[in-house]
Amino acid sequence: MHEWALAEAVLTTVLDIAAKENAEKVLEINIVMGELQQIDMETFKFALENLVKGTIAENARIVFETEKAVLKCNVCGYEWSFGEIIEKLDEEAREAIHFIPEVFHAYIACPVCGSRDFDVIRGRGVYIKSIKVLGGGK
Ligand SMILES: [Zn+2]
Repeated sequence: MHEWALAEAVLTTVLDIAAKENAEKVLEINIVMGELQQIDMETFKFALENLVKGTIAENARIVFETEKAVLKCNVCGYEWSFGEIIEKLDEEAREAIHFIPEVFHAYIACPVCGSRDFDVIRGRGVYIKSIKVLGGGK
């Protein structure tokens, strides 16, 4: 259950931040999800909504935002967006990448120099953008 572990990690971070701010209550949690993050959103949301019960983050509004994936060529330094190239791929390749992002390199090459040596520099993780809390501030 990858989603539950992730939800737990997110909640731990939220509670850490809230504790540092001496918050009485967490009102809102803004989470950024990378476009290439392989998680089931429904399960993740369900997990998070269950885990917050009994904590000061209970009833907090949970807001999700998607971060577009950006790739960077290690040879020429060119950066391009995942969305830009995915449109040019055929159905089969798109599906393969959707389910197993690791197969990237088999289908994608730098649009400028043609190298398959590139990194995903954005759009791969899950992180907390911000939280809103009640009380604290000291
Ligand atoms: Zn390149």
